[in-house]
Amino acid sequence: MAKISHKPIRMCVSCRKRQFQDNLVRLQCAEGSLEVYKMNGRSFYLCKDCIDEEKKVLKSLMRQCKSGDKDKLMNKLKEIITDDGKS
Ligand SMILES: [Zn+2]
Repeated sequence: MAKISHKPIRMCVSCRKRQFQDNLVRLQCAEGSLEVYKMNGRSFYLCKDCIDEEKKVLKSLMRQCKSGDKDKLMNKLKEIITDDGKS
């Protein structure tokens, strides 16, 4: 018998596609700054495809964080992705 997988599926806020959580990065915004989700507050997901497209992902980040500080958001995102890759 085949095992049914119960992988959680979440929606990317940028492309609005539904994906397995494995393929998404969970983030949150705290006071206009981007952070990795820390178990409280409002969070959102971005898929790895969107993260590869800076311009596209930036629009979503600015909307989610209500911030126009593109450099800050983008730098933070890169930092988060890099950290994620190490663990
Ligand atoms: Zn996406």
